[in-house]
This record gives sequence, C-alpha cells and structure tokens, in this order.
Amino acid sequence: MTAISDNIALISQQIADAQNRFHATQTVTLCAVSKAQPAEAIRAAYQAGQTVFGENYLQEALTKQAQLQDCAIAWHFIGPIQSNKTQPIARHFDWVHSVDRLKIAQRLSDARPPEAAPLNICLQVNISEEASKSGASGQEVLELALNIKQLPRLQLRGLMAIPAPSSDFEQQRDQFRQVRALFDQLNSHGLQLDTLSMGMSGDFAAAIAEGATLVRVGSAIFGARPPKPQPDSATEGN
Ligand SMILES: *Cc1c(COP(=O)(O)O)cnc(C)c1O
Repeated sequence: MTAISDNIALISQQIADAQNRFHATQTVTLCAVSKAQPAEAIRAAYQAGQTVFGENYLQEALTKQAQLQDCAIAWHFIGPIQSNKTQPIARHFDWVHSVDRLKIAQRLSDARPPEAAPLNICLQVNISEEASKSGASGQEVLELALNIKQLPRLQLRGLMAIPAPSSDFEQQRDQFRQVRALFDQLNSHGLQLDTLSMGMSGDFAAAIAEGATLVRVGSAIFGARPPKPQPDSATEGN
C-alpha cells in the first residue's frame, strides 16, 4: 500500500468512529482536497478507491484534470471564485462550494453547458464574521439561497463553511453548530438542502458531530502541501 492509500483508510476509519461516537446517522462523503498535489498523487488516491476530489485553483485543476481524463472523478471547486473564471468552472466541475454572491451564481448558471447536469452548489457562509474571510453572512444567506434556487442551471445543495481554526474540540463544535443551525433554518423555508460541507483535517470529527455530510480533507491524506505560487488567486479579476 502507498502512504496515500493508508491515509485514506485511516481517515475513513476516523470518519466512521466519529459517526459512531456522536450517533451521527448522516452519510458522510470524504472529499480529498488535492490542491498543490501532483496528478500522480490524485491517481494514487483514485486507485485506492477515492473518487471525490476538491481543488482551489482553476488553472492548476484544469491541468490535472487533463492528465486524469481516464479516471471517473467528481471534481469539486472549493476555492475563491473570480468572476472572470466562472465559465471554465461551470464547464469543468461537478460541484462548486464557494459561492457567496448572486452575481457569481448567475454567471455559473449562464455558463453551465445545457447538455451537462445542473451544477451542484453550496453557499459559503462566514459564521465567524472575520473581515478577511469570504462567505455570506448569516443574515444574507436566506435571501441569497432563495435567489440562487431560481437559477435554471444550478442545483442548490447546501452550505459550506471554513470556521476560524481552533484546536479546542468544543470550540470547533460550537462553530459548526452555528452552520448547522443556518442549514436547518434554510430548510425550514423549504429549500430542501442535503449537503453540509464542513470539516477539514484538523476538525472533521467535530463537524461530523454537528451534522457534516461532506468533509474536505487535504493534508491528512496527502501530507503537508508544498509551498506554491498561486497566479490565478493573486488578483481578484472582477
Ligand atoms: C485546503 C482546504 C481544505 C483542506 O485543508 P486541510 O487542512 O489540508 O485538510 C479544505 N477546504 C478548503 C476550502 C481548503 O481550501
């Protein structure tokens, strides 16, 4: 076994353990976050049975997708979205987790090819209200969700959040509980959301305890990321 397949087996076991320990009956999907990892690392994970991958940087993702065309991978875009990149994102991904404004959603809907299934969307919410982080505020999210629900080529699936990092398990849970409360609130308005995308390498057990249905795990699978220049995130090209 490669280290990557060992890590996937370990994380899968830890997900199952968290579900048992917290009586979390939801199905939890493991999204392997492969940003800054080479195509060969993705292929190793794929050969170990992993089929859902998350990428943050468009150009890097497109290059790797071209190298992995023979693999039946579900590609999730989880990084910040520049409005001039919406067309390739709408064409080359199955899911987008980082939608936090209507203009971006409209552009993704307009650009989604008619022959493809509707693009699955999670709204990114910012519950810690840190000015530096992206994400719609709790107050904005209902109106945003109701508007996005109307867009023809999108399927609104749920919420995504990246809480402020904490090493304290109860603090982690508190933040995820707030995301869960928003999710329940939206569903009480008839939105029929089924996806709570929350939890990363350092906090996915707490996220599962609070109802996460998809955890985005990078370094715990692939190891520490090599430092990398990020040309397509350097400027916000609106
Ligand atoms: C990088 C990243 C992850 C994975 O982070 P790890 O700590 O490496 O597990 C998850 N979600 C988003 C949005 C990311 O940018």
